Amino acid sequence: MATKKIIITIDGWSSCGKSTLAKQLAEKLNYVYIDSGAMYRAITLYFLRNHVDWTDQKEVLSALTNIQLEFHYNENSAQSEMYLNGENVEYVIRDLVVAEKVSEVAAIREVRTFAVKQQQAMGKKKGIVMDGRDIGTVVFPNAELKIFMTADNAVRVERRFKELYEKNPNITLEEVKNNLEMRDYIDSHREVSPLRQATDAIVLDNSHISMEGQLKMALGWVKEKL
Ligand code: C5P
Repeated sequence: MATKKIIITIDGWSSCGKSTLAKQLAEKLNYVYIDSGAMYRAITLYFLRNHVDWTDQKEVLSALTNIQLEFHYNENSAQSEMYLNGENVEYVIRDLVVAEKVSEVAAIREVRTFAVKQQQAMGKKKGIVMDGRDIGTVVFPNAELKIFMTADNAVRVERRFKELYEKNPNITLEEVKNNLEMRDYIDSHREVSPLRQATDAIVLDNSHISMEGQLKMALGWVKEKL
C-alpha cells in the first residue's frame, strides 16, 4: 500500500480475537504489532514472583524501577514476544495464575503511567498496530484507525478455553468463564483509563465472522485511511 504509515488501535473485551486481528494486520501492512496486555501481564508476573504488595503505592513504585519490558521478534513463532528483565515470559504470562491478578494490577495508576509511557514511545514512528483496552482512548487518542472489538460471551469463553486447554488440560470452562467475566468487569469499572469504546472507533463484532473475513474488513478500513 502507500508509504504513509498510520497508527491502528484495537480495543475491546477480553478474548474477542484482538491480538489475532492485530497480528494479521501488522503482517499484511508490514507494521509493528504490540500486545499491550502482555506488558500488564509481565508486570503482574513480576509482582507475584517478588511478593510485591500492590496495595502499597511505595512498594509498587519501587518495584517498577526494577522492571524492564521489551518485545523481541522470534523468527520461529513469527511473532514478537514479551521479555521481562531479559527473560522470555511470553508463555508464562498466559497462565491463569497471572490472568487472575492482572486486572487488579492494571487498575493501579502508577502501573498504567509506567506502561502507557512506553507504549506511546513505541508509536512515535507510526506504522504500528497496538491492541488493548485504552489504546484508542488514552494511549493514542489521535490514531488514524480505531477498531473496537466485541463478540458474544459464549464464543469468547469457548475460544479462550480452547487456547488455554492446549497448554493445561486440567483447566475447566467454568474457570475460564469466571476469569473473563471478572476481568471485563474490573477493566470497565476501574477509575483510571477504564475500557471504553472511543467515540470515533469502528465496532467490529466478530461472533460470526471468520478470521479471513475480519481481516478483509479491517484492510478495507485501512485503505480508506491511507
Ligand atoms: O489483552 P489481555 O487480555 O492479554 O490483557 C490482560 C489484562 O491486561 C486485561 O484484562 C486488562 O486488565 C489489562 N490491560 C489493560 N490495558 C491494556 C491492555 C491490557 O488494562 N491496554
